[in-house]
This record gives sequence, structure tokens and C-alpha cells, in this order.
Amino acid sequence: MKSYRKELWFNTGSRRELINITPQIDQCLKESGINEGLCLINAMHITASVFINDDEPGLHQDFENWLEKLAPEKPYEQYRHNNYEDNADAHLKRTVMGREVVVAVTGGKLDFGPWEQIFYGEFDGKRRKRVLVKIIGE
Ligand code: ZN
Repeated sequence: MKSYRKELWFNTGSRRELINITPQIDQCLKESGINEGLCLINAMHITASVFINDDEPGLHQDFENWLEKLAPEKPYEQYRHNNYEDNADAHLKRTVMGREVVVAVTGGKLDFGPWEQIFYGEFDGKRRKRVLVKIIGE
């Protein structure tokens, strides 16, 4: 069995951002030389997510509005975690949006359903953070 590991780095200009990382994951899969197997992609930070959905700007604004209703960033003092930090909302948003995804690798390609794309969801940005890509198979 072959095994491939890579860390992808991100540094967003704003506190919250959704980035389509599908092209980078495609590149990782090419580098791995794996044709049949599984590809795991996970955020390595507890205030960021990796998830799969549609690359549609209206939907991305809907995610932002929905997450801000569930766990508003402000006022900061509404959260007990913010005695030490200001990012309680980012921890909650990350938990809702998920830590990782696993995509099947078939015939050397990511085996997606219709419109599926992989996103990095940043909820406490403006600093360097990582995503782990692990691919195993033959
Ligand atoms: Zn925190």
C-alpha cells in the first residue's frame, strides 16, 4: 500500500473565509500516484473546518449568515471561553461545519458526486494555519 502526506498552509486576510481547495487536493492526488484508495483532508486547528459543498457565492453568504445566527462573533463577552480569547464563536462554527472529509479515489481521480467541491472554512483567520492531506491506497 502507498501512503502520501502533505500539509497545506493558509493565511486569510479576514477573520472568516471559505476557500475552494479542490485544485490543491487534485494536485496532491497526482503527486501521490495513487489510483485506488481514500483521501482524508482535515483542518489541523480547532477554529477551522474542511467540508464539502457547492461552490456557489449565494450559498457561501448563506453559510456566513446562518453561522452568525447560531454563534454570533459579538458581543465577545457572551461566551465563557472569551475570558482568555475572543474566538469562542470560531470554535462553535468549526464544530458545526466539521473537522474533515474523506473522498474516495477511483481511477486516479477524486470520486465526487454532482457539484461536490472541497472547502477550507476559516473562522479565526489572519494567521498561518494548516490542513492535512493523507492519501492511502494502491
Ligand atoms: Zn479559543
